[in-house]
Formats: sequence, structure tokens, C-alpha cells
Amino acid sequence: MKIRYKIVLQFSLIVAFNLLMFSGFIYYREDQKRHETFRGRLSKRAITTARLLFDVSGFSPELIRIMDKTSVNRLIGEEVYIFNTKNQLVFSNAESVPKELDTALLDRIKTENSVEFRINERENLGLLFEGKFDNFIVIESGIDVDGEANLKSLRQTLLISFLLIILVVIISGMFFAGQALQPIKTINHQIDQITAQNLRKRVDEGKSKDEIAELAHKFNRMLNRLELGFEQQRSFVSHASHELRTPLAAIKSEVQLGLEERLRAPEYEKILQNILEDTDKLILLSNSLLQMARPIDSFNLSKIENIRIEELILALQNDVKNNKPDAIVRVNFENIPPDEHLTIVKGNESLLKNAFLNLLDNAIKYSNTQPVEVLIDFDEKECIVHISDKGIGISQEDLPNIFEPFYRGENAFDVQGFGVGLSICHKIIDIHNGRISIKSQPMHGSTFTVALPHLTL
Ligand code: ADP
Repeated sequence: MKIRYKIVLQFSLIVAFNLLMFSGFIYYREDQKRHETFRGRLSKRAITTARLLFDVSGFSPELIRIMDKTSVNRLIGEEVYIFNTKNQLVFSNAESVPKELDTALLDRIKTENSVEFRINERENLGLLFEGKFDNFIVIESGIDVDGEANLKSLRQTLLISFLLIILVVIISGMFFAGQALQPIKTINHQIDQITAQNLRKRVDEGKSKDEIAELAHKFNRMLNRLELGFEQQRSFVSHASHELRTPLAAIKSEVQLGLEERLRAPEYEKILQNILEDTDKLILLSNSLLQMARPIDSFNLSKIENIRIEELILALQNDVKNNKPDAIVRVNFENIPPDEHLTIVKGNESLLKNAFLNLLDNAIKYSNTQPVEVLIDFDEKECIVHISDKGIGISQEDLPNIFEPFYRGENAFDVQGFGVGLSICHKIIDIHNGRISIKSQPMHGSTFTVALPHLTL
């Protein structure tokens, strides 16, 4: 069911319920009032008749009957029956006594003094009349034609008002709900026009600050992220194919050269050497691509353990020493805290090694093998590692982009690389809930800072 109809239905049901309660209450009060008034008239007529008959001398039953017929206070269909205490009928203006006026009823009137009962449309009141000389049971009966007619008219008025009000509520509810939901209809229509090929379109956020505007705003923000994701994917594919094409073209031309020319053994050896270098590049590149393309959850995060950062850095210092004997990595332990938990982080060791190794490699690569400083620090929440070099630094224009996949700064012109290392680093630090930032000055060097949440007790 559409929200519009749901709102109208619920609102109409609430109004209908309240109206029913209200009308029911009015009708009940009116019926009570009519009943009390008619009872009062019955009682007055019963007592007057009994008094004239038994307490005032000179009023014969015949006279009373004539007076009753001509009285302006006479009730419609009025009948009166008077019994003595032995239940014998002593007076009546009716032709016969209804069978309902039996001994049981008369006895009940004697004990209860006053009994009300209904026979079809007739309302009856039985009273025990205590006269000057004797007691009598007086039963007065009549039809409250006016009262019932008034009630009927009230019923009709209430029913018509009920139907009219509900009709007005439904019509106005449809109108206002339609107006309130119009922006959703518009957004729905606009969403229909947004496709993967047409991600630039946005939905109308309007000027109000209501929930629908908020929804539209959040939807637009989601589209921004989606568009960025699509854009990054597109540029990733195009960069990746470009990077792959260069060594492949080199291998192809080396092979063609080897096939077309008659060369001597050392020249063939040189060609094979070049092919080997290009193949190594391809392997390195495809490994990096694989790591970048892998979604975050497929990183082996099940292998999470407590890692002591200073040990990890020391291991990397050794690796660098073995692989690049010219490079110098100095680790500064001055700030290492006595509480070991402050430098232990939860994470995947091989991923974190990969991230820090990338940073160390870059520091060495872009500083012409000048010494690299690693400072291990901490604060109340994080273990912080600063990796500083005194290399060529990064220009202000390049700084915002260097974590983008395949982005290479202008300083990397004659330095080997694919521009994917920092983007992998960022991804790894991100999935460890950490932060990576950079401060750099061209020709003075760069400092990369990695902050990872440590074990807080
Ligand atoms: P690559 O080094 O293969 O180009 P990275 O993703 O590791 O790719 O780095 C991206 C860019 O950031 C580099 O091309 C370079 O311009 C810049 N860069 C990274 N580290 C440093 C550094 N320590 N000093 C100067 N520039 C750096």
C-alpha cells in the first residue's frame, strides 16, 4: 500500500474512532436525559392519579378517567393500573391488564418501592404509593413519542456529521499527504534517470530542511562516492594497462631484435638480460596491482595478532641492510615508553611490514641513499612512527595526490616506480584504523607519519 494511502487511512481511522467516542457520549447523555424526564412525568402522573383517587374525597374512578382523557399533561398511550397490597386491581383506565403485570412484579414493587420496566415501546413505572389510609401499587405506563423522535433525529444528525467529517478528512488527508510526499515522488522520478553511465545527475535537494531534504542530501553524497569509485576504477584500469604495456612492448622489441638480426652470443645474452629485467618489472607491477585491486576484507585479517612496533621496525632495518647495503636506516628509540602496551598494535604483521617497507624504500629512493631516520613515539591512544628523509621532497601541488593509485610526483621523473606503493600503504593503514600523513619541503626532505591505535588497557 502506498504511504500516502497509509497515512490517510491511519489518520481517518483515528478521527473516526474519536468521533465515534464523542457521538456515543453525546447520544448516551441525551438518552439518559430523555429517560429521566419521562420517568419524572410517569411518576408525577402516577402519584397525582393515586392521590386524587385515595387521599382526596369526591373523585370517583369514572371522574378520574374523564379527567385523564382531557388532561393536557396526559402522556401518549397513557395507561394506569392501581393494585391494593393484596395484588387486586382497584383502578385502571385500560381495557385489559397486560400479562406482564403479574404477582411477582407486584411483589417486587412492594419490596423495592419503585421498579422501572419496558413492554415493547411502552415505558412503565411501578410505585408503592403510601396513601393517607392505605398503601397501593401504582403502575403508570406511556410511550415517549417525542423523546424517541428527538433521539432518532439526534442519531441521524450524528451519523450525517460523522460521514461528512470523515469525507472531509479523507479528501483533505489525500491532498495534504500528496503535497507532503510530492518531493519523494520527484526524487523517485529523478532516481530513475540515474544510471551507471549517467552518474553525474543528482536529485533535487530543495530548500527546506526536513527529513526528505536530508534523504536527498545523503543520497547525493552517496552518488558522489559512487561516482568517485567508478572514476577511480576507470582510471585504475587505464593506468594499469598503460603500465603493463611499457615493459611488454620492450620485451616484444627485444625478442623481435633477437629474431631478425643474426647476433653474437654476448648480444643475445644482453637481450635475455633486458627481457629478464622487464619480466621482473612486470612481476613486481602485477603483484602491486593484485594487492591494490583486492577488496579490503580479502586481506588476511583473520591473521590478526599483537605486533610490537619497535621489533617490526628493527626487522625491516635488517632487511634493508641486507638488500641495500648502501642504505642507512637509523632507528630512534628515545621515546619508547616503559609500558610496552603503548607500542603494541593489533594487526596483520605481513601487511604492516609491507606498508613500512614501502615508506622506507621511498625514503631511501628519493633521498639518493642518504640516511633515513625512524622515530618511534606514542600518545595516549596511538603508537606513532615518523619516517624522515633528507631527500628531494615533494612539491605542494603533488602533496594532495600522492596517495592516489598510479600518481607519481614531478620529482619522480627519473626514479623507477609505478606510483602504487603509497596507495597500498594508505589502504593498509586504513584497515588497521590508523592514519598516515606527510610533511614535506622540496629539496629538504619528507616525513611520513603513521599513527596506529595501540593496546590500551
Ligand atoms: P613510486 O615511488 O613508485 O612512484 P609511490 O606510490 O610510492 O610510487 O609514491 C608516489 C609518489 O610520491 C612518488 O612518485 C613520489 O613523487 C612521491 N614520494 C613518495 N615518497 C617520497 C619521498 N620519501 N620523498 C619524495 N617523494 C616521495
